[in-house]
Amino acid sequence: MKFELPDLPYDYAALEPHISARTLKIHHQKHHAGYVKKLEKLIGDTKRADLPLEEIICTSSGKEFNLAAQVWNHTFYWHSMAPGGGAQPTGALKSAIETAFGSVDELRKELAEAAIDEFGSGWAWLIATKDGKLAVTHSTDAENPLPTSNTPLLTVDVWEHAYYLDYQNEREKYVDALLDNLLNWRFATENFARIKRAA
Ligand code: MN
Repeated sequence: MKFELPDLPYDYAALEPHISARTLKIHHQKHHAGYVKKLEKLIGDTKRADLPLEEIICTSSGKEFNLAAQVWNHTFYWHSMAPGGGAQPTGALKSAIETAFGSVDELRKELAEAAIDEFGSGWAWLIATKDGKLAVTHSTDAENPLPTSNTPLLTVDVWEHAYYLDYQNEREKYVDALLDNLLNWRFATENFARIKRAA
């Protein structure tokens, strides 16, 4: 197997009560695993499979792009959350947030709007440009910021499968619970330190 399902960075019950163990288990073992299996089936026995996943994403389209991006997006999403989350951004990241949004609260508001406004299935992102400026975006289906010069710092999965068992149609409640309780600022800080700086 060229492509493998990464373990979650925490137990299935670790994000309760905000995201149930049942949701997390199905999301990881069925949805994420499904993308891995389909990608393996599509290109596992070709030379493409030897490329780093990020390079596959940046050089593909159609089904290959969708599967590769969904594999990557889910791994990034698991790390965008942490049990207890909480710890507020500090240092250079905090300064960049204040420059771009005014405050962490205002960023939280924009991220919630992006997550709620994405009309169908997709993702909300906190990104950094190559100049180190922060912005909030959202993307449709499997799309992500990797093929651009921007660096993703955090993401929120707003496909219905991410919240339907826990919140049914109430995406807003899921987004609020995640943003208020689970955002992994340590992960965002690590990503911010690795942005694709302008040459
Ligand atoms: Mn998902």
